[in-house]
Amino acid sequence: MNIHEHQAKELLRQYGIPTPAGIAAFSVREAGEATQQLPGPLFVVKAQIHAGGRGKGKFKEASAGEKGGVRLAKSRAEVHTFAEQMLGATLVTAQTGADGRVVNRIYVSDGVDIERELYLSALVDRASSRVAFVASAEGGVDIEKVAHDTPEKIVSVTIDPASGYQPFHGRRIAFAFGLEGKQVAQCVKLVGDLYNLMLAKDMSMLEINPLIVTKDGSLSCLDAKMSFDSNALYRHPDIVDMRDLTEEDPAEVEASKHDLSYVKLDGTIGCMVNGAGLAMATMDIIKLYGAEPANFLDVGGGASKEKVQAAFKIILSDPAVKGILVNIFGGIMRCDIIAEGVVAAAREMGITVPLVVRLEGTNVELGKKILAESGLKITPADDLGDAAEKITAAVKEAA
Ligand code: GDP
Ligand code: MG
Repeated sequence: MNIHEHQAKELLRQYGIPTPAGIAAFSVREAGEATQQLPGPLFVVKAQIHAGGRGKGKFKEASAGEKGGVRLAKSRAEVHTFAEQMLGATLVTAQTGADGRVVNRIYVSDGVDIERELYLSALVDRASSRVAFVASAEGGVDIEKVAHDTPEKIVSVTIDPASGYQPFHGRRIAFAFGLEGKQVAQCVKLVGDLYNLMLAKDMSMLEINPLIVTKDGSLSCLDAKMSFDSNALYRHPDIVDMRDLTEEDPAEVEASKHDLSYVKLDGTIGCMVNGAGLAMATMDIIKLYGAEPANFLDVGGGASKEKVQAAFKIILSDPAVKGILVNIFGGIMRCDIIAEGVVAAAREMGITVPLVVRLEGTNVELGKKILAESGLKITPADDLGDAAEKITAAVKEAA
C-alpha cells in the first residue's frame, strides 16, 4: 500500500525527522487557509498523487498551465492561482501512464532555499535479506538516469538486523553525500530515525528524493514516498486509515474486499484461477498460444460460490475482456463448487464472451456435469494446453 507525500511527511515529523512545514488541502479555500498558517512569503504547491515525477509532469488541461505538479509560489495570491489550476486537473508524469491521475488534493508547503539535492532511499533487499539504504549525491528528479549512466555515483549500505543500525552506516552515507562538519552527525541521526520508522511501520520502501542541504546548511526531507507491506497492515490501523482508494484501480479495490488477488493487465483474456502458481502458468500458456491475459486472478484455496461470482463480476467489469478462461485445480477447493459459481455468475451476468472452463481434481465429474447440464454456452477443456488453445481460438473467431 502507498500513501501520499503529505501523509509520509506527517510520519517523518512523528519520528523527529526534519521536513518543511506543510498542510494538505482538498479545496482552494483550504489552500488559502493553509497559507495563513505558514510563514511565507515563499510557498510550494504540490499535487498529491501516488506517482513520482510530478515536477516534470504535465497537466492534460491547458487551463492548468504549462508547468508541472510542483510549483514555487511567491505569494499567497499565487498559491490561490496554482490551487485553482491543479485541483481537479489530470496530471501525467513518467510514472502515471498516459491516462494520468486526477489531482484531488494538494500540499501547500513552506518554500525552502536549496543548496544541494541528494538522493536517499531504503528498501527490503531480497538478495541480502536486509534493509538496504541507497544514497547518491546526485539527487533531485533524475535518479533513474544517474543509476543508468553513472552507477558508481550510487552507494548502497545494508543493515545487519542482528546488530541494527550503527552510526558507521550513517557516516558512510554522509561521506557519499560529501557532507562535512555538523552535517555528518545530523545525517547519522536522520538515517537512523528513518531506519527506525521503516521498521516500526513495516515499510517495504521509503524514498527521500530530494533530501536537501538548505542554504543555512541543514538537512531536510523535501519529498517523501512510502510503501507498506500489505501483509503487515493488520498491525497498523493508523497506516490503513491513510489509504486513498481513489488512487487505486477500482477493480483491484473491489477484489481486495472479497479477498481475491487481482491484478489488471493489458490483454483480452480474463483468467480465473486458483493458486498463484497456476495463475502464472495460465498467463504464460495464454501468451504461448498468441494472446494476452487481461488479468491475474487467484481466487485462493477455499473459495465459495459467492467468491467465484464476485471474481466473475470483476473480470467482466473490464471492457477489454473478450473471453474468459477458468482454470481450476480442485484440491482443497471442490470442482462442483466452482462449477456452481461459474453457472450462477454466467446466468446472473449474461456472459456474452466465450467461456472456456478447465476443471481437474476433487469432484471433477460432478463439476463437469453441472456445467454440461446448465444449458449455458460453456466450452469444457481437458488440460491447460487444450483450454488455452480453445479460448484463444474462440476470441480470434469472435473478433
Ligand atoms: P517529484 O517531481 O514528484 O519528485 O516532486 P519533488 O517534491 O521531488 O519536487 C521536484 C523538485 O521541485 C525538487 O527536486 C526541487 O528541485 C523542487 N522543489 C520542491 N520543493 C521545493 C522548495 O521548497 N523550494 C525549492 N526551491 N524547490 C523545490
Ligand atoms: Mg521527488
